[in-house]
Amino acid sequence: MRILLMGPPGAGKGTQAVVLAERLGVPHVSTGDIFRANVAGGTPLGIEAKRYMDAGEYVPDSVTNDMVRDRLAQPDAANGFLLDGYPRTLAQVDELDSMLASHGSSLDRVVELTADLDEVVARLLNRAVEQGRADDTEDVIRRRLEVYTEQTAPLTAVYNQRGLLAQVDGMGAVADVTSRILDELGI
Ligand code: ADP
Repeated sequence: MRILLMGPPGAGKGTQAVVLAERLGVPHVSTGDIFRANVAGGTPLGIEAKRYMDAGEYVPDSVTNDMVRDRLAQPDAANGFLLDGYPRTLAQVDELDSMLASHGSSLDRVVELTADLDEVVARLLNRAVEQGRADDTEDVIRRRLEVYTEQTAPLTAVYNQRGLLAQVDGMGAVADVTSRILDELGI
């Protein structure tokens, strides 16, 4: 299964993705996690990405696309994956289409986690206290939500038109959200 999980920052994508990937037996491919691992490791990619991430901006497509292409070419992603945090721009949608087409495949389903804005901000501020992520300050959170609304929310219309989109309420207990997603996936 080739699944894309979408949703605003703080909707719980990361949490759900880990559970779902395990359940589906596919790798969890999170661009945010890959960027953060590179930042922690001080790699050239991490140094480049950090400037954008700390400001709540998207890392340029030229950097992100190459990184995802390499990751999806790994053998463990050959039979499926759970993508989390990519694509986030319309240009990335095109790029992902061509990456998958070059392997003779395409996405099977796109799950959008929907969330209440106030709830999302509260969750992110709480995570800031617990995990100390550099991009979880109030100003940066506000910017990340804006960027999501401007650049990423429009992607759902594209996937809806393709008949791939399932919208799932991301509010409530983690296990409840997981079962809603599994229902939508027919699992
Ligand atoms: P969020 O909690 O905002 O969903 P992620 O952990 O998925 O956060 O991503 C953190 C940051 O990494 C983003 O704010 C952005 O700077 C960068 N990033 C992640 N995925 C992408 C992408 N597909 N394109 C550009 N930048 C990305």
